[in-house]
Amino acid sequence: MNVLAKCPKCDAGLPIDAADAPDAIKCGRCGRTIALHVTPALREDRAVDRCPVCDGADFYIRKDFDPKVGLAVVIVGALISGGFYWFGRDLIAYGILASAALIDLVVYGRLKDVTVCYRCHSEFRGSYARAAPAFDLHTADLLEVEYERRIGRR
Ligand SMILES: [Zn+2]
Ligand SMILES: [Zn+2]
Repeated sequence: MNVLAKCPKCDAGLPIDAADAPDAIKCGRCGRTIALHVTPALREDRAVDRCPVCDGADFYIRKDFDPKVGLAVVIVGALISGGFYWFGRDLIAYGILASAALIDLVVYGRLKDVTVCYRCHSEFRGSYARAAPAFDLHTADLLEVEYERRIGRR
């Protein structure tokens, strides 16, 4: 399983391979040492049961979507369609614009889910079975405040 650990101090994303994760890593941005408690389920890519960074056991699922990719498709589509529009081929122009939007939809639908830790926002990618519920704002508010108090941000 691939874990994107979030540094508690500076929020930098630190990619780790859970299969042979060390006991601690050092943040490349701020130099803070982050202790990792990787459970056997994480190592074997079976399930996300406990967060290795904050020890929390509350997670949610979201689409693993990179907004930059979606935006690039729309911009390229708009540029091409603008070219056709300029030469008076508006039907083709509208068609291209529509297909760019459609490609975005298809890409979005085929995306895998990523599991995210409510407290420290570490992300978990792999072939394990997704068991966490969808994002809940109320839970996030409670757990984030709890975590930030613990690490002394509030
Ligand atoms: Zn850091
Ligand atoms: Zn966490």
